[in-house]
Amino acid sequence: MLDYSEPVARLIDEFKRLPGIGGKSAQRLAFYILRRPTAEVESFARALVEVKEKIVFCSVCNNLTDVNPCLYCSNPKRDRGMICVVEEPYNLVAVEKTRSFRGLYHILHGSLSPMRGLGPDELMLPNLLTRLSPENNEGVEVREVILATNPTTEGEATANYIARLLKPLGVLVTRIAMGMPVGSDLEYVDEVTMDKALTNRHEI
Ligand SMILES: [Zn+2]
Repeated sequence: MLDYSEPVARLIDEFKRLPGIGGKSAQRLAFYILRRPTAEVESFARALVEVKEKIVFCSVCNNLTDVNPCLYCSNPKRDRGMICVVEEPYNLVAVEKTRSFRGLYHILHGSLSPMRGLGPDELMLPNLLTRLSPENNEGVEVREVILATNPTTEGEATANYIARLLKPLGVLVTRIAMGMPVGSDLEYVDEVTMDKALTNRHEI
């Protein structure tokens, strides 16, 4: 980047930090930004800052939200006795689309991956254990925890780890059915497949 003036080089460096963006893509994005009208770029920059200012992790389920607790956790119509554990916020969206789950969620924001150096401490897991006590769950006892992590090596390892942690506490722990191709990401499964996976869940 030696040939670029400092502000341009800095913008390219910032883009390079984004997941999946290499040097060439970063340059292309930087020059795209330079060609856009100032007002448009300002609006883009404001959106970046605002999302960091206004979006927080729900203190109950770790969902990304602008109200805390989030809309799921504060909805009296949701069944507080069931918790569906997912890896990422977009996995929650996939389960919601089935319209067959009326419980609450718990978002881990990751999965166990020894290869990438991700251990239990990197997961947002401790507050799941807290929620299992009725006094921390508006007096409701949790009947079932559904492990809906991805059908990948990491997702399986994560599900097994959580199951080992929860089972001694006496709560029913289930795993969604693996009718889905192994290695697939729940982000890409359709509602019908997800619905089947939920319906055919089994105790682990
Ligand atoms: Zn929540």
